[in-house]
Amino acid sequence: MVWVLNFINRFKDPELCRNILEKIRNEATTPFRFMEVCGTHTVAIFQSGIKTLLPENISHISGPGCPVCVTHDREVAAFLALAEQGVHLATFGDLMRVPGPDGRSLKSVQADGGKIRVVYSPFDALQLAQDNPGEKIVFLGVGFETTAPTVAATLKVAGEQGVKNFFVLSMHKLVPPALQSLAMERDIKVDGLLLPGHVSTIIGVQPYSFLASDYGMPAAVTGFEPLDILQSILILLHQKKYGRASIVNNYKRVVADQGNPRALAVMKEVFIPVDAKWRGLGNIPGSGLSLREEFSEFDAWKVFDPKTEDVQAPPGCRCGQVLKGQILPDECPLFRIKCTPASPVGPCMVSTEGSCAAFFKYSV
Ligand code: SF4
Repeated sequence: MVWVLNFINRFKDPELCRNILEKIRNEATTPFRFMEVCGTHTVAIFQSGIKTLLPENISHISGPGCPVCVTHDREVAAFLALAEQGVHLATFGDLMRVPGPDGRSLKSVQADGGKIRVVYSPFDALQLAQDNPGEKIVFLGVGFETTAPTVAATLKVAGEQGVKNFFVLSMHKLVPPALQSLAMERDIKVDGLLLPGHVSTIIGVQPYSFLASDYGMPAAVTGFEPLDILQSILILLHQKKYGRASIVNNYKRVVADQGNPRALAVMKEVFIPVDAKWRGLGNIPGSGLSLREEFSEFDAWKVFDPKTEDVQAPPGCRCGQVLKGQILPDECPLFRIKCTPASPVGPCMVSTEGSCAAFFKYSV
């Protein structure tokens, strides 16, 4: 117990954290299982050791919150095919080591001479296209509602400036349809959700309302400090204990209930929701974003038509089950043995926000 108290002393507001933890301990008289669906929460929870501080009755698992991890094998195979065909790709760094079905990655293609540039924003990719008018540059659009508005704004600028050699391979995913898919799965028992802080700054609170109204599932929009997370767990615990279900905005210092209307507007102007395949969750209606017809000249899926036939996950990888909270990372037979951050077999070990990588780094 002494080490636990010393541990909490490293949190911001340690006294408040201690009080909330005490309340959770006192009130946790029935077993409940909560889930976070945000990669940044995954890391914050592992990093802060919150799981080890919770009473036995409260278990907390990670869900499909890491955008790189949920990117489907078919999409990975498609961008690797583009890279191998010599198409010049621009990507965020965390996609570089994602293994394809045959073990190849963007990094290995790059080592063999493939033209792949790591960028920090889609605007950097647009700049790359403008600096290299003789090249076709494809930006790999991976991410949730947090990333999609910036990609949309970049496409609008590309259109306004008449850029003809910039394209986006949109693999963006939308969080609420995935939560609905999780809520509908009978074999995943989750009593409440910590909702993603970043995504919620864009979409607000209303898009989650179906969780409470249709599935009786409480949920709390949550920030990233240990205090935010503990508060939200207490909120979920209270709601379950007293038979209530509502969506609580517990991150009001950042998240407006109505979200960010300007970001939503630009996203809607450029993208249209389409069905999309998620690793682990399968095909989810209306959970992806495709470029609207008006922007089709920038649509790398249409312009380059990369290979999209169904492909298998890396052999032995159980990322799909990890992403659904069906198993913990160390229940995968490859964890720590064949699969490590230095030599990842699946994407959940590649991304810093992946459950397997966080479990590897922070669990003892
Ligand atoms: S430990 Fe590696 S192989 Fe196993 S599920 Fe995680 S990423 Fe996949």
